[in-house]
Amino acid sequence: MLGRGGRWLQRAWGAASGPPQPAPHGAQLSFDGAVFRLKSGWELVRGLLVFRLCALPGLVRRAPTLLSVSRRLLGRRLWGSLLRASFYGQFVAGQTPPEVRVTVQRLRALGLRPLLAVPIEEDVGQDKEGEGWYEGNRGAVLGCVGLSAQGGPQPMMQLKVTALMSAWLCEANFSGLSPAENRHLQASLLRLDGVTQRAVEAGVRVLVDAEYTYVNPALTLVTLALMGRWNRTQPWVWNTYQCYLQDCLARLGADAALAERQGFCFGVKLVRGAYLEQERRLARERGYPDPLHPTWEATNHSYQRCLDLLLELVARDGQRCQLIVASHNEASVSHTVRRMEELGIAKDGGAVCFGQLLGMCDHVSLALGQAGYAIYKSIPYGAVEDVLPYLVRRAQENQSVLQGTRKERDLLRQELWRRLQRRP
Ligand SMILES: Cc1cc2nc3c(=O)[nH]c(=O)nc-3n(C[C@H](O)[C@H](O)[C@H](O)COP(=O)(O)OP(=O)(O)OC[C@H]3O[C@@H](n4cnc5c(N)ncnc54)[C@H](O)[C@@H]3O)c2cc1C
Repeated sequence: MLGRGGRWLQRAWGAASGPPQPAPHGAQLSFDGAVFRLKSGWELVRGLLVFRLCALPGLVRRAPTLLSVSRRLLGRRLWGSLLRASFYGQFVAGQTPPEVRVTVQRLRALGLRPLLAVPIEEDVGQDKEGEGWYEGNRGAVLGCVGLSAQGGPQPMMQLKVTALMSAWLCEANFSGLSPAENRHLQASLLRLDGVTQRAVEAGVRVLVDAEYTYVNPALTLVTLALMGRWNRTQPWVWNTYQCYLQDCLARLGADAALAERQGFCFGVKLVRGAYLEQERRLARERGYPDPLHPTWEATNHSYQRCLDLLLELVARDGQRCQLIVASHNEASVSHTVRRMEELGIAKDGGAVCFGQLLGMCDHVSLALGQAGYAIYKSIPYGAVEDVLPYLVRRAQENQSVLQGTRKERDLLRQELWRRLQRRP
């Protein structure tokens, strides 16, 4: 039996299930690269170089070998300096807390907010050294809470559950565990709860990442439990929904209805999804149906339906349902801006914000920031050696996005050319 809220959710759901609206550009937003005037000459050159190299699939595929060979040839110091001046400098906030603070200040001066992420995660089959590894990660994640708390208004951070709980356990999905596995489950839940408590005390919202389909049910279970415990008055814990999954809209609707029934606030990070190639390969190898939408267009359609559902929920009560549109897609961003206007959702009220990766699609991020929207840049940080494997994996997973940086490269080139022409 649905209550008043449930019926309302059904209506919003119905609206979102219809044919998606076309996505015209937000009236006051222009992604023409004029905002690149805010970048230094060196940042323009570095962006051009890094995007050009990242768009070469052969190079990205062989990156781990190239990195280890170049490290041996150049020596650790020179190798580190070159990377800091290029890939690391483009996509990473820095190594130490003071370096991260400098990056954060620089972003804030441009109207952008930090969304810090500790680049630690575990996949099934990667053997870590027992509870100690996860306890060490707990310290790093608590450090991230502290740094995020100093990051400006409405601070947020990203959290990977598999940094604090074994991916193997998540895949097993908590059924029929041995006594040792049960002890690890309990320790993991305590870690997750402790980190959340510290984040709530520091006023930091925790955005839990979605990962592979074989661990996601466990991640969602844990995240919904944390939401039920901590999101009584506002959404401190947010879950991530990957719209490339065929069942995304159904799961999103079910979880929103659960939040409504149980009386907890619902925070959502809406993404298209990062593990396309691996998901398809696994489905082929293990002989189950591909869980992803068959085309990019179908994923876009799914993204917009989920987005429309969430924007309706936010318009109804922006205190109890909040959303981060974590996408570089200009059509999705423009559509959100237009619907926010139509639904009367404030630009920077905290209920709807945007997220993009540091060093990616700055023409979109800066345009949003300059127009007064709440826009966060997802920022990994840490030592070069620790962050590089993470960056390489992200570059391999996001090949389709990196190959689509042609527009950004053109805009960077135009701005460089404009400056060169103005030189006496
Ligand atoms: C702040 C932030 C947080 C993020 N957190 C997560 C997270 O927790 N979990 C996660 O998985 N990802 C996460 N991502 C990554 C995200 O899922 C996307 O991989 C990335 O942002 C590219 O999507 P887009 O909407 O920006 O770009 P677009 O270029 O519009 O879309 C590219 C995406 O479309 C989909 N796609 C492309 N080709 C096809 C095809 N043939 N068939 C079906 N679908 C296709 C893929 O998902 C691909 O990544 C995050 C991204 C950001 C910016």
